[in-house]
Amino acid sequence: MAKKLIVQKFGGSSVANVERIKKVAQKVVGYKRKGCDLVVVVSALGDTTDELVELANKINIEPSEREMDMLLSTGEQISVALLAMAIHKLGFEAISFTGAQVGIITDSSHTRARIIKINTDKIKEELKKGKIVIVAGFQGATLKKDITTLGRGGSDLTAVALAKELKADTCEIYSDVAGIYTTDPRIEPGARKIPAVTYDEMLEMASLGAQVMQSRSIEVAKKFNVPIHVRSSFSNHTGTMIIHPALIKKISGAKEAKMMEEVVVSGVTMNKSEAKITVCNVPDRPGVAARIFKELSSAGINVDMIVQNVSHLRQTDISFTVHKNQIGKAGKLTRKMAKLLKAGDVLEDRNIARVSIVGVGMKSHFGVAAAMFDALAKNKINIEMISTSDISISCIIQKKFAEKAVRILHKKFKLAKR
Ligand code: ADP
Ligand code: ASP
Ligand code: MG
Repeated sequence: MAKKLIVQKFGGSSVANVERIKKVAQKVVGYKRKGCDLVVVVSALGDTTDELVELANKINIEPSEREMDMLLSTGEQISVALLAMAIHKLGFEAISFTGAQVGIITDSSHTRARIIKINTDKIKEELKKGKIVIVAGFQGATLKKDITTLGRGGSDLTAVALAKELKADTCEIYSDVAGIYTTDPRIEPGARKIPAVTYDEMLEMASLGAQVMQSRSIEVAKKFNVPIHVRSSFSNHTGTMIIHPALIKKISGAKEAKMMEEVVVSGVTMNKSEAKITVCNVPDRPGVAARIFKELSSAGINVDMIVQNVSHLRQTDISFTVHKNQIGKAGKLTRKMAKLLKAGDVLEDRNIARVSIVGVGMKSHFGVAAAMFDALAKNKINIEMISTSDISISCIIQKKFAEKAVRILHKKFKLAKR
């Protein structure tokens, strides 16, 4: 019988210090002892990536993206080497590689590169020799051999892409949480671990702020139907399966699956990384919004939520959100456009947060939005903007209320431990 191939990914908190790296080595070796082939993806130690970003910004607030990738990719290079050494110490063979060495080829969009292909020959060759293969997460290289990174949280993507390409039996994401919870357990200690979630729900939760999985990794998992097991680095308990909806029943058991079908909201998320821009008194005529947003998009600014108020006296206010890292540039361009279009003031608000509820059950239920707005209103939390998708509702509120709002909504939709 062919050996079982497992791709395991250990996040930054799982390898934050020497003791933890040794623990990870023991975990990996435990699977090797059981006769599995292992490809282990590792993130940078603890907060290394954040510290490297800070370091770069002390030198240049707008560093070259190519050089940023050169810098950030070093974090993962440290952790793979240390993990290999820890495994050697336990008497097992392991070999570490950078993304470039292992054949992860990406496009050249530095800091958010996309994987074009993975040449798995090297990995297979080392596995055949009986070695545990350790791969630096979050990075690749262009065909011209420039080092690239895959966006923050990108080690998840490395793991999923390798699992797909190697046709691994399992893809395990080890973190400092025991799985996917109904909300961030750091905000709501009563949050409940979910046995299984669909790709769509996880994708929505991730893109609305649940940092536990990088959203692009879920896109890839969904596209190629790669089941993911999110679990704790610090225990052996089963975590959460992120899977195709057809498998939910099998994983959760018929009873739990039925319960899940009845659940309208399965999670609450929060995101503090956006800022809001409002253009006041915009002339209400065709093409005005198009000109503002065209200007922003040609400057590479990603606009998220957009709200245009009801027009009165042929003038209207337009509000939209952008990533807070882009607010300076976005504000400048919007002021330029407002002047050109003879609109009024341009206001910037960096103190906002987005709270969202997510659930596939929403498609077939009425009154979910009303229940959300009511819960916030009863707690005197003002809603500044609203947006909806098929399976989520988001509200922009003031940042200082973000955690409180998460707890209120978690309670309102009865998500706590049963
Ligand atoms: P890693 O370093 O392992 O990649 P991350 O810090 O990227 O870990 O993600 C894990 C964190 O995600 C948890 O510590 C938790 O605070 C946060 N988190 C946010 N939302 C959720 C959620 N719904 N379920 C589980 N964890 C969540
Ligand atoms: N170290 C990278 C980051 O902090 C990638 C990862 O952890 O997945 O974003
Ligand atoms: Mg992560």
